[in-house]
Amino acid sequence: MRLKLKSLPRRDSGCQIPQWKRELASAFRRPGDLLEALELGHAMLPGARAAAAKFRFLVPVGYASLMEKKNPKDPLLRQVLPSAEELAQHPGYVPDPVGDLNASMSPGLLQKYDGRALLLASGACAVQCRYCFRRHFPYAEGGASSERKFAALEKLAASHDINEVILSGGDPLMLDDHAFAALVGELQSIPHLARLRIHTRMPIVLPSRITSALCETLRTSRLPPVVVVHANHPRELSDEVQAALSALRRAGITLLNQSVLLRGVNDSVRVLEELSEALFASGVLPYYLHLLDRVTGAAHFEVDLPRATSLVATLRSRLPGYLVPRLAREDPGCPSKTILL
Ligand SMILES: *Cc1c(COP(=O)(O)O)cnc(C)c1O
Ligand code: SF4
Repeated sequence: MRLKLKSLPRRDSGCQIPQWKRELASAFRRPGDLLEALELGHAMLPGARAAAAKFRFLVPVGYASLMEKKNPKDPLLRQVLPSAEELAQHPGYVPDPVGDLNASMSPGLLQKYDGRALLLASGACAVQCRYCFRRHFPYAEGGASSERKFAALEKLAASHDINEVILSGGDPLMLDDHAFAALVGELQSIPHLARLRIHTRMPIVLPSRITSALCETLRTSRLPPVVVVHANHPRELSDEVQAALSALRRAGITLLNQSVLLRGVNDSVRVLEELSEALFASGVLPYYLHLLDRVTGAAHFEVDLPRATSLVATLRSRLPGYLVPRLAREDPGCPSKTILL
């Protein structure tokens, strides 16, 4: 007897686990597994394990697949592999280098600049970047439970001087489609909000997160969305990433990129130039190139100011102005980011 399709058990599509969550569940969670996949031997393992005990290790398989095998200096690997260098103390490197803890309007809601408030929509990320300036942020206290989110929304509704909300984290796209749509719904019902900005690394490190439901939420929002992605190296812009960025573009979203200038990752004119070109080819304009925030554990990524300005000056001589990111630094207490070049 032939099996009739109809007799197969029906799957309720609403209960299916989305692809991106399955990819997240199978991400590398132990440095040894990633080193093994890259055929790198075990020399870096003790340092990696010790540093991962302080700030956890997490790398999606798709992102790891863009790394070069047997290359301990791969610029993508360097961004995410814990290293013994993180454990050294350096003067001037502190847990909260950008003064986040002093900028709280309400738990999980920060304001530093006129008109804009930053909502920590999720404490989680799909990858753990070793240079992250929020690597020591106490999300459990300042982060994103539902009561806190409610209080933050009330505060935004009462703050008539705010016209732009920036969803940040962690990564705000760690919320699932349903929770994200609910949050956007709440925000667009606040009449004085005019724009919605989303700071996310998900399109770069887990492009399957860019679902059609997400694009639809953004496309139909009353608030014109600006998505600021975070790519540091041209090799991060794989075919899948380009497709995700195109989907966002088709939904009418303004796309910008911010990078961090990182020693051993993108501190060369050639890499920065290729990054700008690759971003443009995907419909993304370079926005900021951040000088490293001096967070404890990240000193080995620092590029000093003279070198940074010289790199950007050379970049400016080679590229059209709109492909040159603004070299910026965050100085706690200043009314905007400091534009250095
Ligand atoms: C960087 C940042 C912003 C955004 O600054 P722009 O210059 O508008 O990109 C807003 N709020 C906080 C707390 C920030 O750190
Ligand atoms: S994705 Fe962003 S917030 Fe998350 S670890 Fe990386 S730099 Fe930090």
